[in-house]
Amino acid sequence: MNAPIPQFVVQAYAFIVGACFGSFLNVCIARWPHDRSVLRPRSRCPHCGNQLVWFENVPIVSWLALRARCRCCDEPISMQYPLVELTVAVIWLLCARTYGPSFLAVRVAVFATVLLGVAITDAKHYLIPDGFTLFGLMFALVTSVWAFFRGETHVFALPYDALVGACAGAGMIAIVGWLGEVMTKREAMGLGDVTLMAFVGAALGPSRALITVFLGATLGAIAFAGVVIPVAMLRRGQAREQTELALGSAPFETPLVPFGVFLAPAAVLTLFWGDVMLAWLTRA
Ligand SMILES: [Zn+2]
Repeated sequence: MNAPIPQFVVQAYAFIVGACFGSFLNVCIARWPHDRSVLRPRSRCPHCGNQLVWFENVPIVSWLALRARCRCCDEPISMQYPLVELTVAVIWLLCARTYGPSFLAVRVAVFATVLLGVAITDAKHYLIPDGFTLFGLMFALVTSVWAFFRGETHVFALPYDALVGACAGAGMIAIVGWLGEVMTKREAMGLGDVTLMAFVGAALGPSRALITVFLGATLGAIAFAGVVIPVAMLRRGQAREQTELALGSAPFETPLVPFGVFLAPAAVLTLFWGDVMLAWLTRA
């Protein structure tokens, strides 16, 4: 009988694999909002266009070794790159630690990685690229069928629930968005939120998809009331002081909420604690 692989080897391997996926996630975050291919051309410096050689492209390590500057033009390299790589590496490490070297660990890690990409892109560009949500939906459906035939039942939805969940999630968020538009009299939600919830619903099943929308809307409302509106009013005040004489008062418009920023963490929380929340909500 083979000796089991030591835990630290599994976790170190997961960390390295995660860092590489984090590196690819950076490419997706940078290119998909501009409709550019993530496969080619190879990575370049965004300032001088210098094509990166392999040792400039090692996750986390290169950024540290190059002291956060391009080797060619000396322009600073964004801290977003090593931070995303490190975050994804830690996600994969934690999944390997919790679930061991298993199919389930990969499913949870991919789920969280895609959602991280969604949250960052939505926060930066106010959009959720189809690349993330389409891949996520396909991954959730295919792995649910795979798990079904392997006889595995665990935190993710089985095939039938995955299909119903995709429809329930997309439908629920479309209804919330529609009501939001009626109330605010302006476009409140993009199609990206609908495709995001199709993906999340396929992973979690219908009941937890509804919990995710409820939780995401609550987080979004708290952030909107507590941060977005005060900041917008502060900026409006500053802008008014600067431009009052020249332009009169600046028009005040409530900013669009990047809902995916809140739905993504809500989906991860619901994956782990959705059943607890559901039991609490329906216990009457
Ligand atoms: Zn450069």
